[in-house]
Amino acid sequence: MKIFGLLAHPVAHSLSPDLYRGWFSEYGIQDAKFELFDVVPEELEDFFQKKMPKITGLAVSIPHKETVMQYLDEVDDVAKKIGAVNTIQWIKKSPLDRPLLKGWNTDWIGVREALCEANVEVRGQRVLVFGAGGAARAVVYALIENGAEVVIANRTLEKAESVAADFRCFVVHWDDRETVQADIVVNATSVGLAHSKNDRSSHDESPVSENFWDAKKIVAFDLVYRLKMTKFLRDAAASGAHVITGDRMLWHQGKAQFEILVISSDV
Ligand code: NAP
Repeated sequence: MKIFGLLAHPVAHSLSPDLYRGWFSEYGIQDAKFELFDVVPEELEDFFQKKMPKITGLAVSIPHKETVMQYLDEVDDVAKKIGAVNTIQWIKKSPLDRPLLKGWNTDWIGVREALCEANVEVRGQRVLVFGAGGAARAVVYALIENGAEVVIANRTLEKAESVAADFRCFVVHWDDRETVQADIVVNATSVGLAHSKNDRSSHDESPVSENFWDAKKIVAFDLVYRLKMTKFLRDAAASGAHVITGDRMLWHQGKAQFEILVISSDV
């Protein structure tokens, strides 16, 4: 039996087990199971020493996407550039070699595919991105690679400046974010994120005011997926914007990850 799983903290309300169960069944894979590994940061090293040798492949989520890199033998070049790994797999360079642990990032593929499936062409478009964490870096990578002009606004200015330095994009102060004229606006902050289906504490928050959207017939993309229509997207839709929900990115990044971990696995 091959063991796959999600490494995160907390993991309780993860949607990954349902996605993987669906794909195992679609591809007729019977000798595999998907487990949740709820690991706090202090126990990460122990997890890699004791548990990882028995696991075939792993999805990684908050708060471990950056810190797992120190336990890997190899990191894919794109994941290195983004600075975050969300997929870990044992690989073998040749049949006689010992298996090595390699990490990838599929979040940027999720961004690219969610935009593509919504028929949104980013080449030559100005995209305003809110946030400068790991997810925002994957968004910016996907956008720059596809020829967009990117402007970032983040509550902590230094983090936005660091992303801009790595990816050739512009920075606007958080307080001035609503003055930017953009064709596409992406929320890659955790504003609007609720930790469980029953937790409505931040459902009514958005990184922009309702007035921001007035008569803007643009594209709004929210990475937050727990609630499909976040306040950010509800306000955007009310003004006639084309909206893209975070669950589409989740599905596409998960599918790309499944293809690495399960379909092209050589261990
Ligand atoms: P992260 O590294 O912790 O970054 C969080 C970001 O949100 C930072 O830029 C932070 O700003 C900002 N932020 C948090 N609270 C804020 C507030 N009250 N006001 C303004 N900004 C605030 O997290 P991440 O991994 O990048 O994830 C960000 C979001 O993307 C989460 O909602 C996550 O669930 C979602 N996500 C979705 C997918 C998907 O497949 N749909 C994949 C990955 C992530 P500071 O720098 O100032 O702290």
